[in-house]
Amino acid sequence: MARVSEYFGSNVFNDNVMKEKLPHETYKLLQRTIKQGKHLELGLANVVANAMKDWAIEKGATHYTHWFQPMTGITAEKHDSFISPVDGNKVIMEFSGKELIQGEPDASSFPSGGLRATFEARGYTAWDATSYAFIKDGVLCIPTAFCSYGGHALDAKTPLLRSMEAINRQAMRVIKLFGHDDVSRINATVGAEQEYFLIDKDMFEKRKDLVFTGRTLFGARPPKGQELDDHYFGAIKPRIKAFMTELDEELWKLGILAKTEHNEAAPAQHELAPVFSTTNISADHNQLTMELMQKIARRHNMVCLLHEKPFAGINGSGKHNNWSISTDTGVNLLNPGDTPGENAQFLLFLCAVIKAVDEYQDLLRVSVAAAGNDHRLGALEAPPAVVSMFLGDELTEILEAIEEDKALDTKEKELLRIGVHTLPKFPKDTTDRNRTSPFAFTGNKFEFRMLGSSNTISNCNVVLNTAVAEALRQFADVLENAVDFESALHDLIKSTISKHKRIIFNGNGYDDAWIFEAEKRGLLNMKTTPDALPSLIAEKNIELFTTHKVYSVEELKARYEILSENYCKVINIEALTMLDMVNKDILPAVSAYIRELAGTAITKKSLCADIPCDYETELVKDLSALQSAAFSKKKALENYMIEALECPDNTSLALFSKDKLLSAMTELRILVDELETKTHSEFWPYPSYGDILFSVK
Ligand code: ADP
Ligand code: MG
Repeated sequence: MARVSEYFGSNVFNDNVMKEKLPHETYKLLQRTIKQGKHLELGLANVVANAMKDWAIEKGATHYTHWFQPMTGITAEKHDSFISPVDGNKVIMEFSGKELIQGEPDASSFPSGGLRATFEARGYTAWDATSYAFIKDGVLCIPTAFCSYGGHALDAKTPLLRSMEAINRQAMRVIKLFGHDDVSRINATVGAEQEYFLIDKDMFEKRKDLVFTGRTLFGARPPKGQELDDHYFGAIKPRIKAFMTELDEELWKLGILAKTEHNEAAPAQHELAPVFSTTNISADHNQLTMELMQKIARRHNMVCLLHEKPFAGINGSGKHNNWSISTDTGVNLLNPGDTPGENAQFLLFLCAVIKAVDEYQDLLRVSVAAAGNDHRLGALEAPPAVVSMFLGDELTEILEAIEEDKALDTKEKELLRIGVHTLPKFPKDTTDRNRTSPFAFTGNKFEFRMLGSSNTISNCNVVLNTAVAEALRQFADVLENAVDFESALHDLIKSTISKHKRIIFNGNGYDDAWIFEAEKRGLLNMKTTPDALPSLIAEKNIELFTTHKVYSVEELKARYEILSENYCKVINIEALTMLDMVNKDILPAVSAYIRELAGTAITKKSLCADIPCDYETELVKDLSALQSAAFSKKKALENYMIEALECPDNTSLALFSKDKLLSAMTELRILVDELETKTHSEFWPYPSYGDILFSVK
């Protein structure tokens, strides 16, 4: 095998390749487009397209595709070959600048939330030059944004790119006030840690619930779960190791900086963490990572489960969104720094994040809202549905000292004056102890932990970038007009801390007492997706997004529709799957077992009438009672499914699904799981939790 440094990025049309394959002038102009978002002339695009095509053909590609991220949460592609007929029944391979820059996929079946009428169903894809083109399965993939004929965003990428512009614009205003004239761009950066399960494919295929819904809808607890903590960071089994090695190789070829891999807390659960990059590239790379995980698992006769809660009673999977902001000169703005000046700037950016998270906690909650994640948030392995921030004791003490004009507990006993004094050092490693906080400061970045494992990371970063941009906009408005910058800065930081300190919580986020305390502080607790979604179109949030040109009102309303509809569809599919399993497999299996037991009892009675056959008789009674109860719960669920048809819109259907369907499903599950524990395993129609979770040897 070649060395990693030799094949890393070998399937990417990256900066090195561009430098080598493009005429110098073209390269320089393309760089300007990439770095400063300047328009690309068609003539120039033709040169780039041709070079890209030659490079791709050399690598064995025959097709190209505009690779985009419609609002399905995953990616989409439509392959076109490079062939073009010429005289003499021959073909040449062609790819024009126009084909590179813009595509028009017939993509009318993607969700648009009403933004596209069927008569104007055309959607356009437009090249995103800031994310490199790459080759996947013999196809040249060009990352693109996807919008409607009328220019409305229909994807995850467009708002993300707009939010990156928003934070760049406002952060640049602030950074100029600190005299950094060398900075020309500020980027939000993200490293997304991805959790997942790997199970044996043969087990997977025997479970209709996993096949149709990605999670188990039934399943009694196995005798052994994760209580011994013997899987977490444990030695990696050979089959898993082979999977991880192949995954790394494939990711590295695509220039994805896969860095850390380890076993997670639950049996069969694992994690991959990449090195961070800009939010846009991280979002593209996370999509590719999820896709490759699933594809490569299959090659190893395994299935990768990305669902947030595939198994009840066992830890679910999340995605930790590590987020920071950096200048193009390489300064991380959430790094405290060493001098009073750096400290002051750090505190201001920190306050912008505190203010943003407090004021837009509802939007952060919405950004992770999905039917699957509702089972995970607050379920003891994941943060609760309440958004709060962890800063660590040292940093919190500094903020308190500033707020109350108190001396810090240092030798000098001086009042801390921002811009004059240096902050006492707080060791980086002590800031990462709290694993229960939804939004934790980890020394030079924030880790947002509410995201579910199958979620795109785009939505939460759109919210973070835009909410912080808004805080910075307000700060810049004040500071640009200040007569005395130092004291205006001091006052601004102080008043921001006073106003928003309620969002800071350094204790145990898994504790029930915290939920009570959070409510007293006025923090929001939106337990489920239908509770959270209306916030997306709340007046203050529409104002935020329209002010920063991230979403139009129409786009927000469309997204609200899509998210509500998706929630309803997921629960509908789950309910139908449950009914199918109960009707066709589970109730008949219990009947068969009862028949067997009853037959044995009769035989016993005829052969040895003096010995009681209490085992069979009692079990038949128990099973029959449970089966009958399950049968009536099943009928209740069926009736609710009929009633659901009467809901006039997705908003009311989402609430009905949560209140009625999900509760009926939970009640049915309890009975079926009990039946499973009492039924002979040879009669039970599905592999058990124990079979699935410990299937990979
Ligand atoms: P730990 O969480 O164990 O402290 P690290 O801090 O090294 O580990 O990194 C966790 C994740 O955070 C990695 O994906 C890493 O690339 C990412 N990360 C580190 N620094 C930044 C940053 N400045 N911006 C965004 N993500 C970052
Ligand atoms: Mg981490």
